[in-house]
Formats: sequence, structure tokens, C-alpha cells
Amino acid sequence: MARKLLLTHIDVPGIETLEVYRKQGGYRAVEKALKTMSPDDVVEEVKKSGLRGRGGAGFPTGMKWSFLAKPEGVPRYLVCNGDESEPGTFKDRFLMTKIPHALVEGMIVSSYALGANTAYIYIRGEMMPQIRIVERAIAEAKAAGYLGKNILGSGYDLEVYVQPGGGAYICGEETALLESLEGKRGNPRIKPPFPAVAGLYGCPTVVNNVESIAATVPIVNDGGEEYAKIGIERSTGTKLISASGNLVRPGVYEIELGLPVEEFIYSDEYCGGIANGKRLKAMVAGGSSVPILPNNLATKTAKGEARLMTYESLADGGFVTGTAMGSGGFIAFDEDQCIVRNTLNFTRFYHHESCGQCSPCREGTGWMEKVLHKIEYGHGDIADIDLLWDIQRKIDGNTICPLGDASAWPVASAIRHFRDEFEWHILNPQESQTRNFGLAHY
Ligand code: NAD
Ligand code: SF4
Repeated sequence: MARKLLLTHIDVPGIETLEVYRKQGGYRAVEKALKTMSPDDVVEEVKKSGLRGRGGAGFPTGMKWSFLAKPEGVPRYLVCNGDESEPGTFKDRFLMTKIPHALVEGMIVSSYALGANTAYIYIRGEMMPQIRIVERAIAEAKAAGYLGKNILGSGYDLEVYVQPGGGAYICGEETALLESLEGKRGNPRIKPPFPAVAGLYGCPTVVNNVESIAATVPIVNDGGEEYAKIGIERSTGTKLISASGNLVRPGVYEIELGLPVEEFIYSDEYCGGIANGKRLKAMVAGGSSVPILPNNLATKTAKGEARLMTYESLADGGFVTGTAMGSGGFIAFDEDQCIVRNTLNFTRFYHHESCGQCSPCREGTGWMEKVLHKIEYGHGDIADIDLLWDIQRKIDGNTICPLGDASAWPVASAIRHFRDEFEWHILNPQESQTRNFGLAHY
């Protein structure tokens, strides 16, 4: 049985309340950090843990914290990114719903480490139940003396506020989120400067994902070295994975990093295999902002090694730099799924969510959507495949924020691995329009 750090007590009745959470050992990390550790000690433990950002980028959390500028007399902020909008990603929502005090406790420990006296939890606007649940948890923590002035007699003050988002995917990008938090339109800023230097209201700010912040609780409780013993190489600890698509048992799983993808898909401890006795056709491991991998590359790398649930192993798709672990939104496609239609679906999403600031993304996503639509509905031309390839190449790496890159990767990987399917649509226009690939929402 895999070790769990975040979801250990998830099935305990009433765990969303302070009383039950404390009975299960909750708020020990706050007691330990504020009474026995300096802020730098906490930063050091997080560095030792090897924790990497769980929102998608996988940037080392301790390193990000140590980049935080500390000019005299200027406030610092911790902002929790709970805007979770990546397609196929619902693990932060699950964590906030089931065990909100894990997030609140993590906010206190992390804010203490960073020297922040004000912190915000920015939650996607559509998640009203989660907003209420987290607000209730904050109120309970405050009434118990874990928030407010002079917490546990330590002399440390902290207020945590929940800010509902406006429902735009782009507000999950950290600088767009900060703009939105400041009351402006959520347009991403050009980086650098990174938020660690000039973030909320121009002040030094750390933006961390919900899961990253919750993970600081076991790190403080057990120590960074213990945390680093879990997982493998540069992918330490546990990770929440949102599993969806054609799986027998979709849901949220806490895995130890390093788990073979094959075991994750097929073992009964996790997804239990592909639904209805079908075969796996393709998968994406990190929401829609990562390459689509075909069956033969889903469980094995290009070198023929077992593919693992790690930042490095999942990046071995052949042409994309960075990690394909992303936010841990694992989507499985069975043999009946149409890759062209799914790529159109992803591209339509990016076109709709583009903020429009930069031309390659604003124009390119719409252009890709039009060409994909043409191919999917039987009006395509063979030259359209090269056109699509050309458009995505011109977007990738040429935009202000990663939404542009994210829109290019599914298109690039779909053409690279499933070119024959694009050709089939073009060469069989009648069937292309009528064939039922099992997606009823069109
Ligand atoms: P990034 O690599 O630019 O940055 C990662 C983090 O490290 C940021 O907080 C950034 O401020 C910090 N950082 C990087 N270099 C730094 C430096 N030199 N000094 C100080 N801080 C530094 O990535 P990103 O744009 O924040 O995130 C992209 C990822 O977001 C994608 O991989 C995607 O998977 C993910 N994503 C997740 C969701 C979701 O719903 N969870 C939605 C969309 C995208
Ligand atoms: Fe906006 Fe797209 Fe440019 Fe990002 S890449 S800033 S979403 S136009």
C-alpha cells in the first residue's frame, strides 16, 4: 500500500472540522514551527524535502522561497493559487473540499517561513462550495488562536483571506492571478521580474499551488529529509493525481512519485485499467497543456524503459522541454476516441481562454481551431496538416505566458503521433462527418 501524506485521514468522518482535524494530529506543524523553529529553519526543511511546485511547473519550492526579496519596511505576501482550471485537473478542489485545514495549516507554516503577515487564497470563482468550506476553516482556525495577532504567543501575526476568482483559465497563471487579485483584468505580466521580487501591489510575493502549500505540513512535522526519502531522484514525496477519461476507476489518487505509469493505469489500487474492456489509445499526464502520448509511449519511454510518474520520466516525449507531469491531470483515451476531435476540443478551449495580449496566441489559437474544425468535419486538405504544424511552431516559445506553448503542444504531439488519423479524416470526408467517436457533447 502506497504511503499517504495528504490524504491519510480523508475518510475520517468530520475531518473537515477543526476538532476532528486536531484529533488526527492537525496543527502540530504550526505548534512546532512557531514554537521551536525560526522562519529560516522552515525554509531549510522545505529545501531539504526537494518539494517541487505541484501546480504544474515543478519549480523547487524551497528555492522559490529563498528567492523572495526582503527589502526593509516592505510587506511580503503569500498567495495560494487555488484557481485550478486545467482541463482534467480537480485534485486541489478535492483537497479543499475534504480536508481544508491541511491548506489552512500549510498557509500558516508557509507564511511564517516567508515572513508574510497577510496571505490570500485565490479560489476559482465557480468553486463556491470550496470557497465557503475554506472560509469556514479559516474562521475556525482564527477562533482557536491559529490566526490573528500573536499566534500561540509567538509574537507572529497572520491574516488569511479568501478571494474568489472570476472564472477565467488565464487567472491561474500566477501574474494574471496577481492582476486579478489587485482588482484588474487578469492579463499575465511579462516575467522577469518574478513575483518573488515584484508581485502583489509590486511587493515581494510567493505564489504556490494548494497542494504545494498543504505538503509543507508533513515536511515540518517529519522533517525535509524524511519527505525526500519518498519518491525517486528529483521527484520526491507524494503527488495528487486527478485521473479521468476512459478508466475503470477515475478519481483523485495520492501516489508516491516514481510509480510506474503502467501500475497507475492498470492496478486495482489505482485506476483499475481501461473501462469496458477497451484498449488504451493515448494519454495525457498533465491536463491539456502537455503532449498527447500514444499507447506505445504511455507506459514506456522512447528508450524502452518503464515510464514513471516523475517530472523527468513524463517529459520524455521526444520534443517538448519541461515537464509533462504538469498539474497531474491524467486523462486516458480508449481506442474509440478520435484524436482529431479531442485536439479540436483542447484547441477550442485555448482559443476561448486566450487573453489576447500577444498575437501568436490570440490569432494562432483561433487559426488552429478553424483548421482543426475543417479537418474534423470533412472539409480538410492534406496541406492543412502542414499548415497546422507551421502555426503551432510559430506560437510555441513566442508568447508572454505558457498558455501559448500549452496550446501548441497537444497539436504538435497529435500530428507527430497520429498523423494517419488526420489523413484519414481528410481522405474520408463523408465518414469523417458521421463517424461516432463516442463524444456525445458535440
Ligand atoms: P514557470 O516555470 O515560469 O514558473 C514556476 C514558478 O517558479 C513560478 O512561481 C515562478 O515565479 C517561479 N520562478 C521561476 N523562475 C524564477 C526565478 N528566476 N526567480 C524567482 N522565481 C522564479 O511556470 P508557470 O508559468 O508558473 O507555470 C506553468 C505551469 O502551470 C505549466 O507547466 C502547467 O502545467 C501549469 N498549469 C496548471 C494549471 C492548474 O490548473 N493547476 C493550469 C494551467 C497551467
Ligand atoms: Fe495572453 Fe495567450 Fe499571450 Fe498568455 S500567451 S499573455 S494567454 S495572449
